[in-house]
Amino acid sequence: MIRFASILLGACCAASPALVVAQTPDAATPRPDVATAAAALQARVVDWRRDIHQHPELSNRETRTAALVAEHLRGLGLEPRTGIAHHGVTAVLKGGRPGPRLALRADMDALPVTEATGLPFASTVTDTYRGQTTGVMHACGHDAHTAILMGVAEALVGMREQLAGEILFVFQPAEEGAPEGEDGGAGLMLKEGVFADFTPDAIFGLHVFSTLNANQIGVRAGPTMAASDRFGLTVIGRQTHGSRPWGGVDPIVTAAQIVSQAQTIVSRQMDISQQPVVLTFGAINGGIRYNIIPDSVDLVGTIRTFDEDMRADVFRRLTHVAEHVAAANGARIEAQIPAEDGNPVTFNDEALTARMRPSLQAAAGDVPVVDMPLIMGAEDFSLYAREVPGLFFFVGATPVGQDPAAAPSNHSPQFDVDEAALDLGLRAMLQASLDFLDAEPPAPAPSAG
Ligand SMILES: [Zn+2]
Ligand SMILES: [Zn+2]
Repeated sequence: MIRFASILLGACCAASPALVVAQTPDAATPRPDVATAAAALQARVVDWRRDIHQHPELSNRETRTAALVAEHLRGLGLEPRTGIAHHGVTAVLKGGRPGPRLALRADMDALPVTEATGLPFASTVTDTYRGQTTGVMHACGHDAHTAILMGVAEALVGMREQLAGEILFVFQPAEEGAPEGEDGGAGLMLKEGVFADFTPDAIFGLHVFSTLNANQIGVRAGPTMAASDRFGLTVIGRQTHGSRPWGGVDPIVTAAQIVSQAQTIVSRQMDISQQPVVLTFGAINGGIRYNIIPDSVDLVGTIRTFDEDMRADVFRRLTHVAEHVAAANGARIEAQIPAEDGNPVTFNDEALTARMRPSLQAAAGDVPVVDMPLIMGAEDFSLYAREVPGLFFFVGATPVGQDPAAAPSNHSPQFDVDEAALDLGLRAMLQASLDFLDAEPPAPAPSAG
């Protein structure tokens, strides 16, 4: 069956309307052990998620959540490693039979958002962010991800004897980005050796998403979420009286030309028939008074791409435009392009996605798995998926019967995860994990004769 559905995407960090085609591929057989485990765990996963929701912690501050996770893993008889990338927790489960190595990742951090859901377990937590006191809320659903992976760990421990292979559980802090001046997230997890002693054959992750209903799973092969890069440009002129522009070099006029000329990078220079590109200036700061031409102007912005070569190409072109427009005005540029390590493209391994999609379909039952459009938001899961084949899929957060296009998106103070998503996410992750561990590696395609 093929059907068309229009869904509005409000990604981790971006929104764009898109037409998608949903289709029903062959489903794997729903595993009875998954159904049994999910039924047994469901109430506790809901309790864990509500508890974590009520006690959210900002990026790199996930002490309570990490302790809860570590205690749970210890209670299962695992030996968690703690304190990775500040508050990361990992544990390895060895199955009773030989088989592949699989990593499963959940993120644990919350956002500086003041919750306005009115839920009985809503957060009233406050903390300091960028010098300001703010509410803290699990507005991206990482509470659900953590609770689901705690449930998956318990279910798999219960199947240990029959289990083929080994599983690394990765509970990661600071997905939303470490506070200014701090390091953190997936990049730091990798630097601190999350894969050093355990190189997985694949890694799976999921995200709850407002743009799908809580009975829907979405996935996409290849580039899935954008690379997100921040840039900074300082246009350096020479200060002068506003009445005597010839006495200096005007960085305001130069900055205006750079903003205009940079528009042609996407519209005239990049081959956007390959993949879309976004280049946005988000702030311009310069000057203090109506009759002073200032010394310098600062520009900052973001670049979103879906291909590593195109990403590097935009950096080069923006640098080129900025330097040459500045030179034409007698000004010069100090450029940070990119300004820091951004997230690369979240890339779903094509073969792995094709192989696991029937497992996701088995979990979703007769609700077709949605082909996700490209998502302009970014995910630091991308860093793991750059090391080993990755699969990142989406589970709907919006209650069935409500229009997901109108639902408060991830990062909204009204964002809510329908608890049905916890059950679907748990079953999908379990089914995919067991199918991956059990399956023989795919046979090589017969050579064309
Ligand atoms: Zn987010
Ligand atoms: Zn998120």
